[in-house]
Amino acid sequence: MFEIKELPYDMNALEPYVSERTLSFHYGKHYPNYVNTLNKLIEGTEYADMPLEKIIRETSGKPTQQAIFNNAGQVWNHEFLWRSMSPLGGAPKGKLLDKITRQYGSYDEFKKQLKDAAVSQFGSGWAWVYEENDTIKIMKTSNADTPVAHGIIPLLTIDVWEHAYYLDYQNRRADHIENFLEHLANWPQVAE
Ligand code: MN
Repeated sequence: MFEIKELPYDMNALEPYVSERTLSFHYGKHYPNYVNTLNKLIEGTEYADMPLEKIIRETSGKPTQQAIFNNAGQVWNHEFLWRSMSPLGGAPKGKLLDKITRQYGSYDEFKKQLKDAAVSQFGSGWAWVYEENDTIKIMKTSNADTPVAHGIIPLLTIDVWEHAYYLDYQNRRADHIENFLEHLANWPQVAE
């Protein structure tokens, strides 16, 4: 049985960039629905006592287990998303900023590439930042797919499902991403 994890800040803490109304649906309705659905789907199956990451890896790419994969992926992705945002978020600092600047030329160029990935994800999905071989990389996934299914541990994610921003931004996904990166991105956590 998976439990609904606590939000690490108040429901209105990310205003005005993500409204209390958006989080009350996103954290309060969408996320628990994934948790509850996953619990129902795995009850009495071989997945019932598995850690979440293992369920994701074991059901990835198996058409008969698609529903379990989708809900497990969405539970993992959202729990990671809550920690990818912070009222104290913003641009990276210190060693991480040095690394990004060395690799991409500037933080603005890195931000542009991450924003492009998030905006160009067709339909629902996620944009991700991760580190591999001492290199900061960007990837995107569609629907419930998650880097965890591909053996990657991410550093940061942006949810680009419409439910993440539609009440505040309607069709303006790019504005949501810009505000996310300017004000909410939890780089201090990444640096840790
Ligand atoms: Mn979401």
